[in-house]
Amino acid sequence: MVDRKNGEARRLDQHSHDFWIFDLDNTLYPSECNLFEQMDKKMGNFIAQLLDLTYEDARKVQKGYLHAHGTTLNGLMKEHNVDPAHFLDHVHDIDLSVIAPDPHLAEALKALPGQKLIFTNGSERHVENVIAQLGISDCFDGVFDIAASGYVPKPNHETYENFVRKFNVDPERAVMFEDMARNLVSPEKMGMSTVLVASHADWLGDHPAEASIFHHSSQDHIHHFAEDISDFLHGVLACGQICEES
Ligand SMILES: [Mg+2]
Repeated sequence: MVDRKNGEARRLDQHSHDFWIFDLDNTLYPSECNLFEQMDKKMGNFIAQLLDLTYEDARKVQKGYLHAHGTTLNGLMKEHNVDPAHFLDHVHDIDLSVIAPDPHLAEALKALPGQKLIFTNGSERHVENVIAQLGISDCFDGVFDIAASGYVPKPNHETYENFVRKFNVDPERAVMFEDMARNLVSPEKMGMSTVLVASHADWLGDHPAEASIFHHSSQDHIHHFAEDISDFLHGVLACGQICEES
């Protein structure tokens, strides 16, 4: 495989990879659906009920955990012994009608050879609900969710090692699609090709996720950019994609 670090483009076509790995949220559906806004409110409500706080005070606690523990869930597990499955059931009980069915994406996924896998920091139930709404439930060979990772989320490197082991993924024959650049650092180190999917989400101001990172094209660990994942995959199927040199 050609490495862009040697100054050459890294080609991505349907014959170059056997494992197509997809993040779920804001990767397989457009970030404009803004499911995170709904989930964020659900987290605030959960904490308000748990700690008997006003919603406003609960939001402050939530953001504190997010910054101190990486995720709100980690903070709740460490500080209050919260059952993660109970928390995730509450947070993922949201209105998915904002996601439009995507037959164009279904067509591309079905046409790709090899295994298609979902690797998410959300729950398997959330995956099932979202891919049913998109109309792509029958397009995947496996799901690796936050429970499978022992509630240690991406970008923890060990979580990627566990994922690769579980599905016998050959990183040199794998490509990973993600909307968060930091979640592509480990895959690239392991030898995978990486695709950053455009995210235009409103991160509610203080959300630590990387807004606008899509345009930071100089990062070496990102080989390709996809403004639209369906169009990108159809491009891979048609004639391949070659990364642009930064
Ligand atoms: Mg995502």
